Amino acid sequence: MPAHAAPADTPHPAALHAALADWYASHARDLPWRRTTDPYAILVSEVMLQQTQVARTIPRYAEFLASFPTIEALAQAPVADVIRAWSGMGFNARAVRLHRLAVEVVALHGGKLPPTAVALRTLPGIGPYTAAAVACFAFGASEPVLDTNVYRVLSRVAHGLTPPSRQELEPLARALLPGPGAPLDPSSWAQALMDVGAALCSVSAPACGDCPLERHCAAAPELARADAPRTLAESSVPYAPKQGTFAGSTRFHRGRIVAALRDLPEGGSLSAQQLADAAGGRSPAEIAALVDGLVRDGLARRVGGGAALP
Ligand code: SF4
Repeated sequence: MPAHAAPADTPHPAALHAALADWYASHARDLPWRRTTDPYAILVSEVMLQQTQVARTIPRYAEFLASFPTIEALAQAPVADVIRAWSGMGFNARAVRLHRLAVEVVALHGGKLPPTAVALRTLPGIGPYTAAAVACFAFGASEPVLDTNVYRVLSRVAHGLTPPSRQELEPLARALLPGPGAPLDPSSWAQALMDVGAALCSVSAPACGDCPLERHCAAAPELARADAPRTLAESSVPYAPKQGTFAGSTRFHRGRIVAALRDLPEGGSLSAQQLADAAGGRSPAEIAALVDGLVRDGLARRVGGGAALP
């Protein structure tokens, strides 16, 4: 058996589809990006959700689309406005990448996102996950959408508490995609798995007793054993990789500088000393390195010894 093949007792896809369809009919989360098939709006939601939690994303998604309702509007906006609109989301480089992507799609594709994951991946700033998600959710493509929740759920269902890598799981995720006649389409299937992951199959305390997949899940009997807590903690490492401390990190100081630049009136800039104050009194060398990084990522431009939004 190849390393990535499903275990021999992997449940039949139809059994999983039926179990999940019933549950999803009454438990689906009502999320704003699920109420649209506008590829641009779905792209915005996916970029936001890459590194920001759902609850925090919901209001910012609405505000962002109110400011930039179409991909053309985003492409035409000054990038500084897009960085300002990204306030509160963190990982500000995403705003710049989204803007660059919009410019390219308008310039080279007439403002239309291509409908396949393969074509979407040729665009700047779109990785395999985002391409699959936009193709599936916006265009109904039969693509596995392996976000962290889906990865965890499918991994536990098929492999129990011995998680394969995401790459190893992908062939199974593809094999389980519902086809014609299934009670869920690929988009609802992915969203239902996401909801099971968010509501029931948490990293540290899966609620198997409430889960529609319990009868089909290889992890459920393992979790019922007395040594489950230790086994679960060991198996959860790929699902909850250790994050470095945020306070005091480079990302933290970059965020402080961008926040200070964002608060300036249009055309304003900060001196080197003001940048140092914004970044909590870092040394001139550290400020220079931070500004270099921001300039490289398109989040700032140099103004004399200081900086401004691009
Ligand atoms: S039965 Fe338990 S481990 Fe399996 S998918 Fe459901 S919540 Fe997760």
